[in-house]
Amino acid sequence: MKPKLPPSGKCKQDPERQECPLVCKYNHFESQDLEIDAWELKCLDCGWRDTVGYRSDEMDDEDADVNPKQCPFCRLEGCEPGTECCAEPEHEAS
Ligand SMILES: [Zn+2]
Ligand SMILES: [Zn+2]
Repeated sequence: MKPKLPPSGKCKQDPERQECPLVCKYNHFESQDLEIDAWELKCLDCGWRDTVGYRSDEMDDEDADVNPKQCPFCRLEGCEPGTECCAEPEHEAS
């Protein structure tokens, strides 16, 4: 489950709000020996964003249990590159 607010705890658009419309986007790049998995978490309102990238040439022992194909924000797996796979609302706003 993705966080409800940016990790700073405040939305720039409205510091009082309890929940931001955060979406994650997944991108995957591949060339010869290098693979990059990039995740972006972004607030659709205030534009706050955070990115986490995994480069296959920078993975060391500490990263052994990191799954680059798993969203670091909401822990979702199996995303298609180029999609906002975590953007699906869990329930429709009424
Ligand atoms: Zn926001
Ligand atoms: Zn996510």
